[in-house]
Amino acid sequence: MTGRTHDLAAFTAVNLILTTQALPPISLSTALVSLGACFIGGLAPDIDTATSSFWQKVPAGTFMGRILHPLFRGHRLISHSILGLIIFGLIMKRLLGLASATLLVNMDIVWWAFMIGLISHLIMDSLTQEGVPWLFPIPIRFGFPPLRAFRINTGGLLEKILIFPSLLILNGYLFYSFYQIYINFFRQFIR
Ligand SMILES: [Zn+2]
Repeated sequence: MTGRTHDLAAFTAVNLILTTQALPPISLSTALVSLGACFIGGLAPDIDTATSSFWQKVPAGTFMGRILHPLFRGHRLISHSILGLIIFGLIMKRLLGLASATLLVNMDIVWWAFMIGLISHLIMDSLTQEGVPWLFPIPIRFGFPPLRAFRINTGGLLEKILIFPSLLILNGYLFYSFYQIYINFFRQFIR
């Protein structure tokens, strides 16, 4: 999937959580940092590609991506697996722990938002022909639908005319159907 679709998928995941889970009260800064963390998580698995959207958004990212590239030994391996999720999660927990001393933000919520973005990335990539090695290092790539021929090409026509618009419609549906939840959510910031 392209970075643009991953961004929208991460945003959709936030909306799904917001409309289906009872969230604890949070501050505006926690909400904003969490949204950012979710977008970062939504792109993070592609750190294994020097030209990915993730590195394009980081200063000197392409350079750093090239340096790190040999560590990953190819695209869509460890960073696109459950093992990768655990490693990303542990690193992020540590980084947020260090940052929590200076920021008045609920880092548990930020961590969950990051993980939700990560998981949305793997789910979206599972819809593509290449599939995702969820159980890396077991060298099997999983995808949905299971038959590869029915899956989509990254950046292809189906991603543009079916997947991306479907995500937009899903977000529209959520905003429309659960507007009261959104009103209550945003009301907590203006108390
Ligand atoms: Zn990916």
